[in-house]
Amino acid sequence: MKISSCFDAGSIVVDSMEHAGDIRLQVRHDSNSEFAQWFYFRLQGAAGQACQMRFLNAAQCAYPKGWVDYQAVASYDRQHWFRVPTQFDGQVLTIQHTPEEDSIYYAYFEPYSWERHLQLIGQAQSSPRCKVRDLGNTLDGRDLNLLVIGDEAPGKRKVWLTARQHPGETMAEWFVEGTLSRLLDEQDALAGALLDKATFYVVPNMNPDGSCRGNLRTNAAGTNLNREWANPTMEKSPEVWLVREAMREIGVDLYLDAHGDEALPYNFVAGSEGNPGYNARREALENSFKAAWLVHNPDFQDTYGYERDHFGEANMTLSTNHIADYFDCLAYTIEMPFKDNANRPNALYGWNGERSKQLGASVLHPIAAVIDQLR
Ligand SMILES: [Zn+2]
Repeated sequence: MKISSCFDAGSIVVDSMEHAGDIRLQVRHDSNSEFAQWFYFRLQGAAGQACQMRFLNAAQCAYPKGWVDYQAVASYDRQHWFRVPTQFDGQVLTIQHTPEEDSIYYAYFEPYSWERHLQLIGQAQSSPRCKVRDLGNTLDGRDLNLLVIGDEAPGKRKVWLTARQHPGETMAEWFVEGTLSRLLDEQDALAGALLDKATFYVVPNMNPDGSCRGNLRTNAAGTNLNREWANPTMEKSPEVWLVREAMREIGVDLYLDAHGDEALPYNFVAGSEGNPGYNARREALENSFKAAWLVHNPDFQDTYGYERDHFGEANMTLSTNHIADYFDCLAYTIEMPFKDNANRPNALYGWNGERSKQLGASVLHPIAAVIDQLR
């Protein structure tokens, strides 16, 4: 029996594994920070054995509430991921599973590999609608790419979508894949109509280094990128610095930033109501956006979410808050669950890549609902 994690986004610490019924693990913290929640490892040689895998430091992880009612995911072929029985007793997280094959992977959520990211970029540029722009390098030397979709004609609205500032929130890049699948489909009438009015600027992965290192929340320097937007630096947060520069050069009329939430079993949005520059126009845009999404996708809801910020008390280092005020525009953080959508639960898959993709495809509807009112 053997456990390994030396692959793209792999992450685990093995304390001991005397036998299948007593596998003791620790969730590894991010490569240069204390955040710990993401795990992804391979177990070999345990086919037919009742495995009990205990994560002994679960209560010390970044989001212990994320383990309540949580089910881990597993896959034999890394294509098809399914949920496995998992319990949290307040201290230790335990996966109990009998693998059918001798090689199986377990993860916090369905991974989105760097390889798939590169294929996504490659496939996107094969569309005549899409151009790939290189914004610069990450600290580990990976490319930070921006996809420009549609003609950049004067007077067109500029719609930005970014994902995976927090690299372990892989659902965010699945979401982007869904949005791109529609935007690049020349037979999709809604996408065509939107591209008559707007150009889309998409950063599918804001944190390539953290993604490859198997981090939950930080980049190679241990920086939480979504706390850097007020003062990014090329030393600590080049990803934010480079994207923010591109935004200032191009302009922003609507900004969406895709994330995953560890604790809440719902899809929801968080707006900029706590910003000093918040106004009635932005509030009306937020409400139109939400109302349209509610109509078009029952996986989206507006009952459960974060507590609303009080006016003037927003954390202005977050991307959506910073961008909303800098450009006086509609800006939303989109949150998807690690667990499941409790309104439409699926015991086999929970919330997963495919459902995130479909939610991402449906976001064209709320964008269309506000596109004529953005300015
Ligand atoms: Zn996040």
